[in-house]
This record gives sequence, C-alpha cells and structure tokens, in this order.
Amino acid sequence: MAAIRSRNTKPEWVVRRWLWHRGFRYRLNDRRLSGHPDLVLRKYRTCVFVNGCFWHGHRVGETSERLGEGGGQMFDLESSVCCKIPHTNRPFWVAKIRRNRERDQQTLERLREMGWHTVTIWECELKGAQCEATLTALVNTLREIGLRERPAPKPYEYDDYYDFELPVAAEDKKSYT
Ligand SMILES: [Zn+2]
Repeated sequence: MAAIRSRNTKPEWVVRRWLWHRGFRYRLNDRRLSGHPDLVLRKYRTCVFVNGCFWHGHRVGETSERLGEGGGQMFDLESSVCCKIPHTNRPFWVAKIRRNRERDQQTLERLREMGWHTVTIWECELKGAQCEATLTALVNTLREIGLRERPAPKPYEYDDYYDFELPVAAEDKKSYT
C-alpha cells in the first residue's frame, strides 16, 4: 500500500495536527507493522489509517458476481459518492480497487490479531463541516482505549472494585465506515 499512499497528503496532515495539539504522540508509517499504518500510537496500542476514498474504494458496493468472458467469475464494484470508478478502462480500476480493499481488510485483521486497535479515517470524513466531528470522535475513541489499556491495579488494590470492566478485546475497535 505504501506505493499508492503518498506521504504527507493533506488529510493525513489534518489528523496529525489535531492529535499532536491534543497531546497525542505517534510514529509515522511504522514499517515493522502490517500495512505500515499512517499513525501508530503505541501508548494506546492503536493504528490509525487515513484512507483516500478513491484508492481504498470507500463505500463502493460489491455487486453480485457475474459470469465473465470464458465462464469465469467476475465481481463488479458500484461507484459511491466519494469513489467514482472511471468508465475508461473500467475492469482495470475495478480489479485494482478490489485488491486494495482486500489488502486493507487483511492488514486490519492481522493487526487486530496482534492485539492492536485499528481506526480508519476516510478522506471524505475530513471535509468541510464533518471534519471536526470526525476528529473529535477519534480523540474520544483514543481516550476510551487509553482507559482500558491502563495497567490493571494489583489484586489487593481493587477489593472494592469488582465491578470494574476488564480490558476489552482488540477487535472491539472503532472503525469509521
Ligand atoms: Zn469517502
């Protein structure tokens, strides 16, 4: 994915600036992790992906399978508001975007298996009036995760707090889809 996710694109900058000014610290494009997440917040065990709507096929419909030429299976994608699949050379774009979506899915699964929380922010969610709500939600999510990820107190310290929530599994992540 690194090849198509260019560095320092504007949507990513918006997210970074917002988090930085609120005291969150992160590592960029950590190569040790699957999919080289755009932002890695180690303290929160969270990877944040800022996805371009076109390349990552945001909200596209995966339509029913059809029979392609020669009897093979073919899957199509339906354009969405923020991901318009070009008419020219359409099969190429469909295949490419499908591949990217599959890879994204695999990346998220792999990270969650490793105990990371994952958050995906879409380019269109950072536009205009939506932007602040998206970023506020991101900060809230990180704070929630931060509370859960705090090391549990030693047993003798929480005799009176048996109803405390136990840390929640990593797959209970927040995804902005
Ligand atoms: Zn979008």
